[in-house]
Amino acid sequence: SSTGFAGRSVVVTGAGSGIGRAAALRFAQEGAKVLVADLNKETAEQTVEEVRAAGGTALAVIGDLSEQAVVDEIVATAVATHGGLDVLVNNAGIMDRMSAAGETDDAEWERVIRVNLTAPFLLTRAALPHMLAKGGGAIVFTASEASLRGSAAGAAYTASKHGIAGLTKSLAVMYRNEGIRTNAIAPGATVTNIQLDVQPDAHGPAALRPYFVGAGKPADAAEQAAAIVFLASDAAANINGAILPVDNGWSAV
Ligand code: NAD
Repeated sequence: SSTGFAGRSVVVTGAGSGIGRAAALRFAQEGAKVLVADLNKETAEQTVEEVRAAGGTALAVIGDLSEQAVVDEIVATAVATHGGLDVLVNNAGIMDRMSAAGETDDAEWERVIRVNLTAPFLLTRAALPHMLAKGGGAIVFTASEASLRGSAAGAAYTASKHGIAGLTKSLAVMYRNEGIRTNAIAPGATVTNIQLDVQPDAHGPAALRPYFVGAGKPADAAEQAAAIVFLASDAAANINGAILPVDNGWSAV
């Protein structure tokens, strides 16, 4: 097995479940020291236990990533305990209710934008000085099929994930000469614990239904994790600003 991440400090958000947990386990297998960030204490600690049981190094920081204090604690803990911050995986996210814009209330809009777009911005901003201090690093976002078009989710989620695509490209350009690469995966349907609270709105779910027929076979979280680890690795040394669909061809339909 590869040891491409031996000794490197990796932060994975949403690592208590699904794609984030699979990514944390895989980075640890490759020798990384992994910080597991999640809202859910019990599941985050399970991820840490799984990493340690496999001989790896991990610790958890629990809290809501949309709070600046939690973001600061994640970065400070990675720097103090793992000797810096080499790789940031902005993966945590929540679904909307598949609502059309006209049926999206303020609470749904603000929560989805806050968790899916503002929180990764806050964490990235806090991490950048530490990557710059080491002369480089890698950032990987978990974007979505909904980063690529308007037919994969509701208005809030689609807007948040298009925002992630823009943030990925902006970071890629602004830091390309300082050794920091930024990329994203765009997962199609993936088997995880993500909560789907689809509302029977007049527009959203009914209007979207015809477009889901092209989704193809759902992915396992481990298949998404493999792409995240690749984009963070030296094997992707000249890949910067890419949004990589991991969707069994859904985006090609
Ligand atoms: P999941 O629900 O299994 O895991 C997400 C984790 O993020 C959970 O452990 C949750 O506790 C954590 N989390 C959520 N909000 C948080 C917050 N505010 N602070 C800290 N932790 C928080 O879901 P998943 O499918 O693995 O989702 C990971 C990413 O993949 C998300 O960004 C999601 O939008 C994206 N995605 C998923 C799919 C899919 O089909 N599952 C498709 C495209 C994109």
